[in-house]
Amino acid sequence: MQSWYQIFPKNPYVSIYIWIIFCILPLFYIFKSYSPSESFLGLLLVVGFFLTYRQSFISKGWRMYVWIAFQIAISITLIILFGYLYFSLFLAFFIGNIRNKAGFITMYVVHLVTTMASVSIGFFTQYDLLVSQFPFILIGVIGVILLPFNSYNRNKQEKLEGQLEDANKRISQLLVMQERQRIARDLHDTLGQKLSLIGLKSDLASKVIDKDPKRAKNELFDINHTARIALKEVRELVSNMRSGKLVDELIRVQQILKAAEIDFRVKGNSVLKDTPLLVENVLGMCLKEAVTNVVKHSQATFCHVLIKQTQTELFLQVQDNGIGFEGDAQFSDGNGLIGMKERLEFVNGSFEISGNDGTTLNIRIPHVILQSVEEENS
Ligand code: ATP
Ligand code: MG
Repeated sequence: MQSWYQIFPKNPYVSIYIWIIFCILPLFYIFKSYSPSESFLGLLLVVGFFLTYRQSFISKGWRMYVWIAFQIAISITLIILFGYLYFSLFLAFFIGNIRNKAGFITMYVVHLVTTMASVSIGFFTQYDLLVSQFPFILIGVIGVILLPFNSYNRNKQEKLEGQLEDANKRISQLLVMQERQRIARDLHDTLGQKLSLIGLKSDLASKVIDKDPKRAKNELFDINHTARIALKEVRELVSNMRSGKLVDELIRVQQILKAAEIDFRVKGNSVLKDTPLLVENVLGMCLKEAVTNVVKHSQATFCHVLIKQTQTELFLQVQDNGIGFEGDAQFSDGNGLIGMKERLEFVNGSFEISGNDGTTLNIRIPHVILQSVEEENS
């Protein structure tokens, strides 16, 4: 349910108290400076403004535009009769919150033109007043020009951020689904067939055990053999899943670098916390490719790997002191870096490579994916 104070423009810079002062100010100002009949008219206009403001807040579609038109008319009248410009700021905020682009632009232009025109007319009707308040009038006019864009862009940005978050959640759900499907497929292909074979053979053995004990013995032997194979396959499956771990990949790259006589050092914790296997897999592949590149292209004497897991991201750096990386032109020389980019995109990650003093490859995978996968898993 919406709270009463939500009729005020939502803005991080202007608190609700300031809006309330804006509401009370015109009444005070009109009662103080004008005759009773003028004050009464002013009161009607102010009350009328807030009633129509509320209506536009709760209406949708064309009705909202009609109520805005009423407010513009009231605001113009207040400027011309009383030199009172502040309601146009209310309107500026409200117009900035219109989501429809065409509606926003139309209302923005109409409001701007009418406000400018009424301020100009106000200089004839309320010359002394407007001149004495000139700095405020100027601020008001600047507000009418800029505020709607500010609110409009902020709303747009919030909407895009929301969409991005949804998309990230969706991607991570898909990743989890894909991983589950792979495990299910592997289990079906390995265990499923063997277990049904064991079932059939044990049925057969129990049927023939009295009539043909020798055949039953053979069947039991087959069952035993199939069970052993199934167990072996399950072990392989599990070790395949484990082999995606970064720690295992580090051991392998250490062996490669040792063989190439390149000094190797690892900083950071290679045992990743709360990281989905798929992400570790991708990171492991990237590490393997980066180190292979160091061996193949860099002519380096050392290779340093840094692993950092922060609250926001997973960071992997592979650094060497070789000939360096010349730039984007080298990207398309092979498939390694392109493949790395594609794999990282799959988990929302990215990398950058620089090669002024040796080559440094920085890989980042944002935590948002990791978190959502975690939530899925729990
Ligand atoms: P592939 O990986 O497909 O077998 P590749 O290693 O040549 O072939 P990439 O891994 O995409 O392809 O690398 C592209 C190019 O970037 C390389 O040809 C090389 O010139 C340059 N490069 C990459 N890493 C380094 C490095 N550590 N030091 C120097 N040059 C590098
Ligand atoms: Mg390569």
